[in-house]
Amino acid sequence: FKIGLRSNCISRAFLTKSSIRKFSTRKLEGKIALITGAASGIGKETAKKFINNGAKVVIADIQTKLGQETATELGTSHASFISCDVSKESNIAHAVDYAVSNYGQLDIMFNNAGIACHTPPTIVDLDLAAFDRVMSINVRGVVAGIKHASRVMIPQGRGSILCTSSITGVLGGLAQHTYSISKSTVVGIMKSAAAELCRYGIRINCISPFAIPTPFVIEEMRVYFPGVDDQGLAKMIHDNGVLKGTICEPEDIANAALYLASDDAKYVSGHNLVVDGGFTSIKNLSF
Ligand code: NAD
Repeated sequence: FKIGLRSNCISRAFLTKSSIRKFSTRKLEGKIALITGAASGIGKETAKKFINNGAKVVIADIQTKLGQETATELGTSHASFISCDVSKESNIAHAVDYAVSNYGQLDIMFNNAGIACHTPPTIVDLDLAAFDRVMSINVRGVVAGIKHASRVMIPQGRGSILCTSSITGVLGGLAQHTYSISKSTVVGIMKSAAAELCRYGIRINCISPFAIPTPFVIEEMRVYFPGVDDQGLAKMIHDNGVLKGTICEPEDIANAALYLASDDAKYVSGHNLVVDGGFTSIKNLSF
C-alpha cells in the first residue's frame, strides 16, 4: 500500500511532458522522415524502426511496386510511398514537397539510396559512363537530398540529415574503385554541409555500414561468384566479419540511424558513424 501510494505521488509530481519524453522509448514521436531507397534493405528496416519510435515516414524509391508494398506492410497510417529517382533533382524536390504538404514539416532526411557497379580489373578499363551513373545516384542524389531538405529545414530552424556511406568509403579501394570513390565523397560532402548547416540548427551525419547481403550486394556478387547460390554468397559476407559471435544486419544500421536522427544525438553533427564490428580498425593495422 505504501509503495502504491508513493508511486502515485511520483506520477503526479514528476510525469510532466518533458519527463514523459525523456523516459519514452518512442524517440521520434511526432517526427516526419523521408528515406530514399526505403523499399528494401537498410532503408526499409530504418523506416520500420522510425515508425516504431513514433515517426511518420515517406518511402522514396525508384521501385514503385516494391515501394508501395513496403508502405502497405508498414501501415498506411504511418508510411506513404512516393516514386523517386534520386539521380533526378526534380524527383527529390517533389519528394520533399510531398512530405511537407502531406505532414506539414520535414524533421529527418535520410539520403540512403545507392547502387554498386561491376568493376573492371584495373582503372585503365574503367567505363566512365558506368562511373557517371553511380555518381549520379550515390553522390549527386545525396547532394540533391541535402539541398532540398535544407530548403525546408532552414526556415524550420531544425532538422537531422543522414547519409549512407560505406566502409569502402573509409578504406578506399576495398571493393571497387567507383563505389569507393562515391562513398568517400559522401563523407566529404556531409562534412562540408555540417559546417554550413550548424548555424541553422541542422545536424548532418553519415553511417558507414559493413557488408550486409541486401539485394544490390547479392546481385553484384553473383557476377563475381556465378557458381555460388545466394545463401552461399550471404555466408561469404558474414564470414568476412570480424566481431565474433554476431553478424551485421540491416537492423544494426537502423539502430545507428535512430540514434543519429533522435535527440540522443542532439549535439552530434559532421560525424561518420562506422558500423562494422571493428573491421576497419583491424584492416588499418599494417602488419
Ligand atoms: P538494397 O538493394 O536493399 O536497397 C537499395 C534501395 O535503393 C532499393 O530499394 C533500390 O530500389 C533503391 N534505389 C536504387 N537506385 C535508386 C534511385 N536512383 N533512386 C531511388 N532509389 C533507388 O540495398 P541496401 O544495402 O539497403 O543499400 C542501401 C544503402 O546502403 C546504399 O547506399 C548502399 O550503397 C549502402 N551500403 C550498403 C551496404 C551493404 O553491404 N548492404 C554496405 C555499405 C553501404
